[in-house]
Amino acid sequence: MSKKQTAPKKPKLVSSTPRPAREEAEAAIRTLLAWVGENPEREGLRDTPRRVIKAFDEYCAGYNMNAGDILAKTFSETGGYDGAVLVKHIEFESRCEHHLAPFLGKAHISYIPSGKIVGLSKIARLVDMYARRLQTQERLTSEITNALQKHLKPKGIAVMLEAEHFCMKVRGVHKDHAVTVTTRFTGEYQKDDDLREEFFAQVRG
Ligand code: ZN
Repeated sequence: MSKKQTAPKKPKLVSSTPRPAREEAEAAIRTLLAWVGENPEREGLRDTPRRVIKAFDEYCAGYNMNAGDILAKTFSETGGYDGAVLVKHIEFESRCEHHLAPFLGKAHISYIPSGKIVGLSKIARLVDMYARRLQTQERLTSEITNALQKHLKPKGIAVMLEAEHFCMKVRGVHKDHAVTVTTRFTGEYQKDDDLREEFFAQVRG
């Protein structure tokens, strides 16, 4: 009898195992403090585990939100507007999933509506939601694009992220000025070179 070959299981992005208690998470930070050679009981560090976990609540607040809620309200009164809607220089702060180090940058997002527009601040909220998770810049770019595609179904989307990664600045290769740029295009932006050129010109302009 031949053994059936099974494809390797693709791990889910979000764990289904129960979350540890806050005290357990704080204890893990105390362990880390001892690991680096510190005394977690000294005055300056006594409260650090609590503060670090609280900070992580903020860094990772995006796990408690979903794109459907953010993009639920759309408007159809566009007055016949059929051009691109570009929101550029949306600052974001995220954390790389490989080192938990921050990466900071700007997102430039454009979409060509097909009868549906969304509040401009919602686009910034969408960026924040995905940024406040453990990320790679590549996946962050894709997740923003996919959410806009799913909920707005526009004629085209252009997403560009530019970011500086602290795991490259303060450790490893120590490149302080390296900027990583990622882009994703769908629909008309994928087909039309001129539209893409216009996007780049507007982002740079
Ligand atoms: Zn990293």
